[in-house]
Amino acid sequence: MSRPHPVYVGERFSYLTVIETGHRKGKVPSSLCRCDCGNEKVFRNTNLRTGYTRSCGCMSQKLKSMVRQIEADPGCRVVSLTDTSHNANDCIGSGVRLPRGMSSAAMI
Ligand SMILES: [Zn+2]
Repeated sequence: MSRPHPVYVGERFSYLTVIETGHRKGKVPSSLCRCDCGNEKVFRNTNLRTGYTRSCGCMSQKLKSMVRQIEADPGCRVVSLTDTSHNANDCIGSGVRLPRGMSSAAMI
């Protein structure tokens, strides 16, 4: 038995808000979540807890196209999404120039 990762209705994991618990994916405890884009999907609790799942999948698609746009712009560079130490005027992995002081972690 793996360690349980309970999640609760109303909890938020990045773009996902838990709207119903008690689901199962196979034998794995899971929860129904609503993504900020409007999609509703069942995710494994452990993936929500560990941050593995942060959106219904819409964000990774959006990020990929954004990264492609950045790479096409020689004035920009793609840095790690978790790297918050660089100058805020640099382009970050999310593909937008962040206002000074805004955390890149907030973008995903
Ligand atoms: Zn979504």
